[in-house]
Amino acid sequence: MERTLVIKVCSTCGCEKIKKVRRNRLGKFQGQSYSVPSLEYHECPECGEKVYGREAMRRIEEESPAFSRSRKQKHAVA
Ligand SMILES: [Zn+2]
Repeated sequence: MERTLVIKVCSTCGCEKIKKVRRNRLGKFQGQSYSVPSLEYHECPECGEKVYGREAMRRIEEESPAFSRSRKQKHAVA
């Protein structure tokens, strides 16, 4: 059974305009910037709240230096 995160209402402002987007996410951790290309997440246009589902979190963890527990080959993102 696959569980899909369904978000209809923004948990921060309560509006119903929150929607799924797919964007490159740029992040920074301790001076190191990283990017997660074409990440799918929910974003609220009203308050800017971003909600990351399980898959999105996994991808962020893969790319973010904050979560780099295991060394892996880093593909260069120019
Ligand atoms: Zn909101």
